Amino acid sequence: METLVKEVEATKEVETTYYSEQEIQDLVNDQRAYFKSNSTLPVEFRLEQLKKFRDLIQTHEDELHEAIYNDFGKSKHDNQLTEIFPLYEELEIAIKNVRKWVQHRKVKTNLLNQPAKSYLVPEPLGVSLVIGAWNFPYNLSLTPVVGSMVAGNTTILKPSELPAETSRIMARLINENFDPKYLHVVEGGIPETTALLNQRYDKIFFTGSPQVGKIVNKAAAPHLTSVTLELGGKNPAIITEDANIEVGVKRMVWSKFLNSGQLCLAPDYVLVHKSVKSKVLERIVHEIKKNDFSVENHNFVRIINERNFDRVASLIDPEKVYYGGKMNREERVIEPTVLNNVTLDDAVMQDEIFGPIFPVVEYDTIDEAFDIIKSFEKPLAGYLFSNDENVKERFLSEVPFGSGGINEAVMQVNNPNLPFGGVGNSGMGRYHGKYSFENFSHMKAILDKATFFESDLKYYGHSDRQMNLIKKLS
Ligand code: NAD
Repeated sequence: METLVKEVEATKEVETTYYSEQEIQDLVNDQRAYFKSNSTLPVEFRLEQLKKFRDLIQTHEDELHEAIYNDFGKSKHDNQLTEIFPLYEELEIAIKNVRKWVQHRKVKTNLLNQPAKSYLVPEPLGVSLVIGAWNFPYNLSLTPVVGSMVAGNTTILKPSELPAETSRIMARLINENFDPKYLHVVEGGIPETTALLNQRYDKIFFTGSPQVGKIVNKAAAPHLTSVTLELGGKNPAIITEDANIEVGVKRMVWSKFLNSGQLCLAPDYVLVHKSVKSKVLERIVHEIKKNDFSVENHNFVRIINERNFDRVASLIDPEKVYYGGKMNREERVIEPTVLNNVTLDDAVMQDEIFGPIFPVVEYDTIDEAFDIIKSFEKPLAGYLFSNDENVKERFLSEVPFGSGGINEAVMQVNNPNLPFGGVGNSGMGRYHGKYSFENFSHMKAILDKATFFESDLKYYGHSDRQMNLIKKLS
């Protein structure tokens, strides 16, 4: 533990470049002019920039690992798995598919409009603003940037200011290697983000809390800017009486305590059928111990800052602690903590936890479990551990959430063929893989009509013949 503290204290002073309102306005204007010059449209240009971006990450992987470790103790292994790997995957998919994605997409033409062709033309939106969250600073900042680039936009990235070194290294790598008219990082906190939001964009892609999501949406409204909001919520997990508890709990515990529970997709609380609760509790503790999610573990991710540490710590009711509860404020570490006999009135059930506290709530009937979930805002994710086909079907059709897993948790985000996004209070819009391209594009709908034939159907005249034809086509 001491080693970790020493290394953490050694965190370097990082230099950040701040921008005035005027400089931000100039940057946006320059990007808009560049976009209007059509320079970002050619596929060759997009490929060249994406490959340059990939090479940059590859060349500087070690520095990226070091920065995130200095910021909040995230290990090289976790960084590679949850930040760098998904970023490479996104880049590879974009590089491999961009030629296909930019093609016109044929759709059928109805009888009324014949003879004609109909198709969609993907069109970049223009100047994008991407605002990242802190908990997966590379993944959540750079993955949307790939989407913006492959779709042919210019991009301004504002990473979260909380992990200062990761923000700094993204700014340095990008700003030293890309033309600011095309791609640029503006660092900073609330004042800088507010200044950025005062400008007009064609796309704003925001990852963060629902509270700030509302601020972003409001800032976009005067310009009717297209907005994607990747937000959070209270993600439920259910364990039914017939679930494979050993496998299910193993997967659930990993996903809950990854990044010390600071994961938007993590199961927030678990609803367990009363008949299997004691077995589930036992297995949760077994898995926590096996994974060495202990405060002494050198690689256990720290809580991002003191404000969040205090918030998470205050959610632990000592009377309900089944396992864990140890913490160290100076080192910003909270041990994985399991709370038992939790009720909906408890503090831990009022808001998204975003930390390593796992409340276990008992249920009797599956309807009761569904009702509890539906008493909250629509969450970002929902998980069901069950072998009951009927319950699975009901879960999928009756319970609203952004994305989810059956007998798995969190890993849906690692399948780029599945879109990632929330619903209602957990967000709007979706991305990853081809969905990222679509997110940052407008699909221009075109009817391309032949000239060798002209029907008089739509023209004035209103004859019985016209009426009969329209009826036939209706
Ligand atoms: P946050 O909303 O506090 O901050 C996100 C970004 O907004 C940061 O870049 C920050 O600088 C900026 N910001 C903060 N306050 C602002 C203000 N008043 N005006 C303008 N900009 C402001 O979120 P966070 O603490 O970075 O992340 C935690 C939240 O994000 C959780 O709710 C979590 O569930 C959610 N999240 C969602 C996803 C997802 O992909 N859906 C991923 C990670 C985190």
